[in-house]
Amino acid sequence: MKWVLLFILVFAGVSGCQSFRYYDPNKAHHGENQFLNNYDNSPKDGFWKWQWERLTSSRPPEPPFHPEIVKTDTQFLQGNRQESTLTWIGHSTSLIQLSGVNILMDPVFSDRVSPVSFMGPKRLVPLPFEISDLPAIDVVLVSHSHYDHLDLPTLRALAQRNSQTLFLVPLGNEALLKSQGIKNVKEMDWWDETKVKDLTVVLTPAQHWSQRSLFDHNKSLWGGWYVKTSRLHVFYSGDTGYSRDFQDIRIKLGEVDVALLPVGTYEPRWFMKKQHVNPEEAVQIHEDLKAKLSIGVHWGTFRLSDEAMSLPPVDLQKALEAKNLDARVFRLLKHGEILKLKNYERVYAEVPH
Ligand SMILES: [Zn+2]
Repeated sequence: MKWVLLFILVFAGVSGCQSFRYYDPNKAHHGENQFLNNYDNSPKDGFWKWQWERLTSSRPPEPPFHPEIVKTDTQFLQGNRQESTLTWIGHSTSLIQLSGVNILMDPVFSDRVSPVSFMGPKRLVPLPFEISDLPAIDVVLVSHSHYDHLDLPTLRALAQRNSQTLFLVPLGNEALLKSQGIKNVKEMDWWDETKVKDLTVVLTPAQHWSQRSLFDHNKSLWGGWYVKTSRLHVFYSGDTGYSRDFQDIRIKLGEVDVALLPVGTYEPRWFMKKQHVNPEEAVQIHEDLKAKLSIGVHWGTFRLSDEAMSLPPVDLQKALEAKNLDARVFRLLKHGEILKLKNYERVYAEVPH
């Protein structure tokens, strides 16, 4: 009996002392037990209150939502190593082709964004194409551990398809990917840089959080990705509430040419505001970055919040009108649409003839 007690005491002591392996008193966002935001770490409780409200209150019927899906010219994408392009695949999943490098952001090709395959938010708009239709992917960028951004079945399929693909993830996510047999993984801290051919890829701060299970709240880092070439600066914010982080990013890394910013999952505001911007705040981020063009993502694919599926385009238009901004500076793409980015490049090909 004594031995059992001793064992329990020792075990409890050991587990109690187990420190957060990323804790670093010199880095404000590396807390003693978890990662922290730069500007707002006030508790974002209210999840159960929100769920109760959803159960007990009746919401007005939604307008129908049947967005047009473009038949993506995947043959063009497969052969293209010259032109800079952006393809919106749905939700936050986007393909960027820059300087001959193919980058996939937060790839989710599963039907549900959930810990289990049989329940949880279901894809409401079909995929424009399958993983097998993608061009060879050089680098996959994952913004954080939430299921609608870090989709293990998709990541496994991408690694099996091409063992050369490099997976870049925020700190605390590398072990999860390696446990799935994905070998070419590198985890990064905010402001860390990785070179991929001619690209510089930087992980940037965001106002968000992470969790995949009951016990891993904020144990992995979250963020956005800033991808630089001499011709184009492309920025993807990941999920975020509004914060000064975006002014910091512009000051540190320069003005953005093309930004991918979230415009969905924002109601009810009392619960969502700290973690998800609404279109009005997304437009403010667009201005903070001095972006030439922003494209709205994180909408129109899965139902994750209370606003109608068709509302983000309406609210985005209102937000642009309120600031007298041309609708062309902050656009939404159709699922599967390819946008060529030449007009947003800094230096045009000035090759002497
Ligand atoms: Zn998230």
